[in-house]
Amino acid sequence: MPKIGIRTVAVLLFGPPGCGKGTVGKHLTGCFDIPHISTGDILRENVQAGTELGRQVQSLMENGGLVPDGMVNRLVQDRISRDDCVDGFILDGYPRTLEQGKALAGMLEEQGLEPLVIHLKVDYNKIVSRLTARRSCPQCGAVYNVISKPPKTDGVCDEDGAGLILRGDDCETVIRQRIEAYEAQTLPLVEYFRQLASKFYTVDGNDGSPTDIAERACHHIRAE
Ligand SMILES: [Zn+2]
Repeated sequence: MPKIGIRTVAVLLFGPPGCGKGTVGKHLTGCFDIPHISTGDILRENVQAGTELGRQVQSLMENGGLVPDGMVNRLVQDRISRDDCVDGFILDGYPRTLEQGKALAGMLEEQGLEPLVIHLKVDYNKIVSRLTARRSCPQCGAVYNVISKPPKTDGVCDEDGAGLILRGDDCETVIRQRIEAYEAQTLPLVEYFRQLASKFYTVDGNDGSPTDIAERACHHIRAE
């Protein structure tokens, strides 16, 4: 992917469940040439390194608790103040709440970075048909998609021959709840950054693979 000559930006990616956001984010590193920072990775690194915050996070997660905003904010701040982030970074899995968004806006201002927002728009029916097309292997956990990544033999895992199943959280009622939760939690955050960021791009996430969507976002930004 040809590089974009924008420097010192923090790329924030928002999109509904099932749009392949994590993968889109990884592919955007090829476009911006800045690191991809996932909060999942930051949490795991801190737990493994046994930092003070890592120990707190670990005990929270072991007890099934949610990691509070303040703690996630501190972990992100610590990560994005490292040397590899001076020219910017792509955030994955953060911010998730308006509280986190406001904290991030403060951190970016301090670091002299500008937010660049990519908002992936996907039609409701598209999300439903994508997620209900998922099939999982109950034995090894492999995930297939009857539309985009079918197994070699219908309904059978390529790895171990087990019969594939439709998981409970991939059925339409649960998907509808996840979309509603996304809209309630994330859309206010998107609105907050729409007001704040001078670089705000709405990208069609309906068709193509996450790589295609990342390229579309990249072209869209370059065309401005
Ligand atoms: Zn399997």
